[in-house]
Parts: sequence; C-alpha cells; structure tokens
Amino acid sequence: MKHGAGGKWYLNARHYSEEIARKHNLREFLLEQYKNFEQLPVRRVAGISPVGLGYKLRIPLIGRIVKATAERLLASRRPPSNPFKPEGHIGQVVPLEDAIAILETCAAEPIIQKNCMCRYMSRGVKEACCINFGVMSEIIDRLPRFIPEKEKYHLSRAEAVARFREFNRRGYIGTIWFGPYPYINNLCSCASPECAGLRPRVDYGIMSIYKAEYAAGVGAGCTGCRACVSACPFGAVEFDESTGRARVRAEDCFGCGVCRHACPSNALHLEPRDQLPALAGRY
Ligand code: SF4
Ligand code: SF4
Ligand code: SF4
Repeated sequence: MKHGAGGKWYLNARHYSEEIARKHNLREFLLEQYKNFEQLPVRRVAGISPVGLGYKLRIPLIGRIVKATAERLLASRRPPSNPFKPEGHIGQVVPLEDAIAILETCAAEPIIQKNCMCRYMSRGVKEACCINFGVMSEIIDRLPRFIPEKEKYHLSRAEAVARFREFNRRGYIGTIWFGPYPYINNLCSCASPECAGLRPRVDYGIMSIYKAEYAAGVGAGCTGCRACVSACPFGAVEFDESTGRARVRAEDCFGCGVCRHACPSNALHLEPRDQLPALAGRY
C-alpha cells in the first residue's frame, strides 16, 4: 500500500525509473551482483550459511532466528549497499492481466528475456523465461551466459507480452520483484520448487514472496472435470465429492491464475483479495 501510493506497488511507474536507478548507483551494483551470481547461494548471509538451511530452520530457537533474519533482509527498505546480500529483494505473485499492465505501461526499456538462473542452478537447464527491464537489461548485455542462445533476446513490449502469455499458459507462475528495493527490474515466470524466491515460502514459511492481490474462485459452470486440480502449482484446488465440483482452498491459493488456462468450461476466475473478508490484508 505504501509503495503503490494506496494501490498496487508494482503499478507505480516511479519504481521502474532511471531516476531511482541513478540515485542508488544500480548499474554498478547489479553488474557486481550478476558477475558473481553463481557464488551468491554459497555465501554466508548475516553470518548464516544457506547450506543445510532446511535443517537449520527446524531447530527450535535457531530456526526462528534464521527465519526472522532472512525476512528482515529480504524486506529491507534500506538503500542497497552490498551486492552480495539478497537485501531488499522481495516479490509478489502476479496474474497475467497485471503482468500485461506492467509490460505495457510501467517497464523501462530496454526489455529483454534472459535465462532463468533458478532453473539453471537447480536443474542445469537454460530456459529464457525471466523478463528484465531498464538497468537490469543493460547489465545482462555484458554477461553472455545469461543470454538465450536460440530465442530472440531484445523484445518489443508486444513481444514481451506474447512471451509472458505463453509462459503463463504453460503453467509458470508470474512474479514481480524489487531487485533491489526500490527498483523493479524482473518479471519472472517461475516453476515451483525450483524458484529460489518461492521455495522458502512454500517449504519453510519464510515471507520471501507475497501472494497475489487476488484469489481464485470456482463458478457455476464447473463440470467437475478436475483438470484444475493437477494444474495448480500450489495444490490449492481439490475435488469436492459432495458437490461434484472443484473447490479452491482460499488459504492455500497464491492467486497466480494459471488454473484458468486448464479449465475447458471457463469456470475459474480471480477475485480481488481485499474484497474477500477471510483473506483481506493476508498475503
Ligand atoms: S525468480 Fe522465477 S523466473 Fe526468475 S530466475 Fe527464479 S525461477 Fe527463474
Ligand atoms: S488455485 Fe490459486 S494458486 Fe492454484 S493455480 Fe489457481 S490461482 Fe494459482
Ligand atoms: S477445470 Fe474447470 S470445469 Fe474442470 S473441475 Fe476445474 S473448474 Fe471445474
């Protein structure tokens, strides 16, 4: 609310501006960060090594301290200072409609697509599904290992929308990121559990990413075909035997909207989170 001047923070064009990039010297900062990107996951953060993080998080008192430290770093609103810390790198799930609004109205040029490093570092595959803007795109120009070999690299706004739409139909989860705060430069199409932003939230409850401004609902047209049950990347949809229809468990829904692509009856829709009493203000 604060960063969106009362609305959605990622639709505030100021966060994509050259003014912000210059003020925080982000050309130098991001180049240093991405030159050394593969080393970041093995560095200690606030004295804590991420190796064996799952085990550390389960130790009673230590686990709480590690979790609180990680959340404080990720949601930090201090000016970016250390390119080797994941500081101020917080994101939110966005459905297709909001991603299109970002690409058409807010994203700073140049716009590129680069190889997803989460997939590369966890599965060894290079898939060009991170869409970058502004200063981030300029940095990648100088780092060939992030540049896709086969696909087009620099994109027009219309091409970026088409690429994002294609990823979303494939079931990838749309996410938008401060990288670092207060600059927005990444619109990602993530896979769970590979995504280093989603996994801490899904597996360990660390607030590394917020749920979308929406949650899914099932309409009267549902025929009970169950296609959405397997399509939901968060396991938030179940088949309700008593009604013979699908049911979304609201508390588990991230509002990504990808279940809609699987529905042959167009029976799934997104509702604004703040209009759902049980979910309002809960991200
Ligand atoms: S945030 Fe998502 S798209 Fe971006 S690098 Fe990670 S998994 Fe890939
Ligand atoms: S039910 Fe929610 S979390 Fe699952 S795909 Fe649909 S919108 Fe995304
Ligand atoms: S895919 Fe659509 S019709 Fe099939 S169970 Fe889900 S909501 Fe119902």
